[in-house]
Amino acid sequence: MVLLFSLLAAFAAAWFLAYHRLPALVWILVFAILTGVFGYAGYWPVGLLKLSIGVLALAAIFAVPGPLRRLLVGRPMLAVFRRILPQVSQTEREALEAGTVWWDGELFSGNPDWNTLLAYPRPRLSAAEQAFIDGPLRELCEMLSDWEITHEMTDMPQQVWQFIKDNGFLGMIIPREYGGLGFSALAHSEVVMQLTTRSGTAAVSVMVPNSLGPAELLLHYGTREQKEHYLPRLAKGLEIPCFALTSPDAGSDAGGIPDFGIVCKGEWQGRQDVLGIRLTWEKRYITLGPIATLLGLAFRLYDPDHLLGTQEDIGITLALVPTDTPGVHIGRRHRAMTSTFMNGPNWGKDVFVPMECVIGGVAQAGEGWKMLMNCLAAGRAISLPANGTGISKLAALTTGAYGRVRQQFKLSIGRFEGVEEAMARIAGNLYVMDAARVMTAGAVDLGEKPSVVSAIVKYHLTERGRQVINDAMDVHGGKGICMGPGNYLASAYMQTPIAITVEGANILTRTMIIFGQGAIRGHPWVLKEIEATRETDRDKAVRMLDRAFFGHLAFTLSSVARVLWMGLTGGRLTAVPGAPELRHYYQQLTRLSSGFALTADVAMFLCGGTLKRRERLSARLGDVLSQLYLASAVLKRYEDDGRPEEDLPLVRWGLLDCLNRIEESFYSIFENLPWPVAAWLLRGLIFPMVMPYGREFAPPRDPLGHAVVRLMMTPGPTRRRLTRGVFVSADEHDAVRILESALEAAIAAEPVEAKLRDAQQAGRIARRYADQVAAEGLRSGVISEAEHGLLQRAAELRRKAIMVDDFPRDFGKTEFHRSTQPVTFEALARRGVGRGS
Ligand SMILES: Cc1cc2nc3c(=O)[nH]c(=O)nc-3n(C[C@H](O)[C@H](O)[C@H](O)COP(=O)(O)OP(=O)(O)OC[C@H]3O[C@@H](n4cnc5c(N)ncnc54)[C@H](O)[C@@H]3O)c2cc1C
Repeated sequence: MVLLFSLLAAFAAAWFLAYHRLPALVWILVFAILTGVFGYAGYWPVGLLKLSIGVLALAAIFAVPGPLRRLLVGRPMLAVFRRILPQVSQTEREALEAGTVWWDGELFSGNPDWNTLLAYPRPRLSAAEQAFIDGPLRELCEMLSDWEITHEMTDMPQQVWQFIKDNGFLGMIIPREYGGLGFSALAHSEVVMQLTTRSGTAAVSVMVPNSLGPAELLLHYGTREQKEHYLPRLAKGLEIPCFALTSPDAGSDAGGIPDFGIVCKGEWQGRQDVLGIRLTWEKRYITLGPIATLLGLAFRLYDPDHLLGTQEDIGITLALVPTDTPGVHIGRRHRAMTSTFMNGPNWGKDVFVPMECVIGGVAQAGEGWKMLMNCLAAGRAISLPANGTGISKLAALTTGAYGRVRQQFKLSIGRFEGVEEAMARIAGNLYVMDAARVMTAGAVDLGEKPSVVSAIVKYHLTERGRQVINDAMDVHGGKGICMGPGNYLASAYMQTPIAITVEGANILTRTMIIFGQGAIRGHPWVLKEIEATRETDRDKAVRMLDRAFFGHLAFTLSSVARVLWMGLTGGRLTAVPGAPELRHYYQQLTRLSSGFALTADVAMFLCGGTLKRRERLSARLGDVLSQLYLASAVLKRYEDDGRPEEDLPLVRWGLLDCLNRIEESFYSIFENLPWPVAAWLLRGLIFPMVMPYGREFAPPRDPLGHAVVRLMMTPGPTRRRLTRGVFVSADEHDAVRILESALEAAIAAEPVEAKLRDAQQAGRIARRYADQVAAEGLRSGVISEAEHGLLQRAAELRRKAIMVDDFPRDFGKTEFHRSTQPVTFEALARRGVGRGS
């Protein structure tokens, strides 16, 4: 019995040491003491004592990072690791090394420090940024008519373009010293988001010059002359930039662009023998391309005559080519769904430009991929997440109102359980998305370039946005489908696939980037191991690997201990900070983060270099990481908002949804892992208590969904916070304004309707049509004149809100042709209308 207890005590000690990731020397010390005490007290037989001493001696050899350990373990391991670790190409390496590791690193550690998260300052707009949002942004939104832009003019009107340029919308990221607005990432995100709620065309036209493109690249890599020349011009819209990476044969595989430049000497602006590049390219899908004056071009640079040095294949290079350079062809236009932002192909053959056109000059030649990846790490965190959230905010605001205003079966449709289910998803998803959007923009403002996090928000905010807009369309029925100026959803619905496709198409982002990059960047040891295998000095490589390998081993051991402990206790004994009402969620996320760290390690160990090709496994691991991130953002948002109790249904919905998705992803990993024993063990360790009963984390339950929908349909602080940033025009004919007014009127009329219903039931009013009931109610004194007015106003606005546009049978073509208004882009171009510059 004593032996059993002493063995249990030794086991508990090992568990404790592993759980707290204590160094190997502490382990040896603790076990030396335990062996001594148990031996002295006579608890352990001599055989066991000898075994323990032997193991301790062996452990001491391996615990001390010395020549013996390196000889016995480090050297053989180096050969094994060189064989099993993924081989990464130059472009992959540059992508992997780009940007920074932020909160994703904590989640990968399996032991996220929530205090660190909560201590990040709450992202805030400066007074100047807020003034811009309340001033020029509102004014611009008021000028925009999405229907006219997309269906009648196929471009923004000239005065809108001019307003955009004059007010610095194209230079939000350019510092003030160069004449730009010098906005924070948060302000940039707010502007793009609000514009999205008004006009997708305007949002994209503003988004692109502020995203990955000439300005961003110049800011980080441009020479002084380039910055001084171009940045002030870009800030004021005197240059319209575009950035051309994609070729017909290189879309997702952008590193494989066939476009090339040859270093040579040529003639430039009358000067002979100028050192430069002869460029040949063919690009497509280039946003702002058709009106660009400055073409940012990505190509592969070769120096066959060694004019720059010994290297022949210099690598991907980025240049700024004025579009009026002889030989530059700007093609016609592509039409991206119904949006009409400028987009099109361009090409050139043997176009000569001087070396000064290379961004950053000769020093940056061949560094293009690294430059792109570094800029993408920040830019991807802002534009498309803002776009997806903007679409969702518009959908939530309008669906909340429409769900209450639109009645069927004598009841607001939002009160039917089926509709409620879809509406709860809209509000719940939006809460998560907005929390992640703001937190991530805040990280960029703290100086981070969070590459993995940017891929997470790009993917998940556009995917959740797709779910939200689909649900909103369903709830709106025919109102969402019939196109016209009064349809505020259709344009957003059709824009959604654009955001899904650009800046790394979503399937690729999910299957290759989030975990593929995260596993190497976010994991505390894997990158160090890879770096060791790449080191050419063998002794140094062995030393590096020795450290990384034993660190990794201790990390995995600790993950096992933590996962099992938290699984058995349901995470309930884990100390966490934050709001007491959310304690359970902090604990579960800590527990699942440990499970993720362990599963990621096991997957990497078993798959080695083949993990890159196992995209489904990588995608599911990425899903776990992503949902951990999104849930963290929800926790942070609740704290940053000052723990508003009335928001709790949304907070809980978001957290439960993330937990449920995490569990689902874990199970699909277990079910598809090609090593059944490993899958069984992982499942038993991470979810030890639920194996016989099924899943542990149910999706948000119906009463919670009901509470969420009530918040969405009721004007108040929560609905305001949730939909903050949606542009609602002051124009009383505007469709969204009409709907908001209809909601207020419907709510004001509800008590009066109740009075009438009561009177009907009491037999004081005969049952007739609604207007007759109201009139009779007024006549019989059940309601007052003012109350009757409320009913009339509600009915009038309700009718306006539910009506859709109609057109002549030929959709007005005859009228258009008879009028002087041009209807085709060609006609517009002939008349010089709509070209911004
Ligand atoms: C409206 C619009 C605007 C754009 N603006 C610009 C711009 O300004 N500048 C610019 O340079 N480019 C621009 N692009 C190009 C955009 O970045 C590409 O469309 C995108 O990279 C995808 O390339 P692709 O369309 O050729 O799709 P493909 O590369 O053919 O991919 C098709 C599908 O296969 C998937 N896929 C491909 N490879 C893999 C893989 N290994 N694993 C898993 N899935 C994979 C993709 O995720 C996608 O779902 C724009 C595109 C559009 C549509």
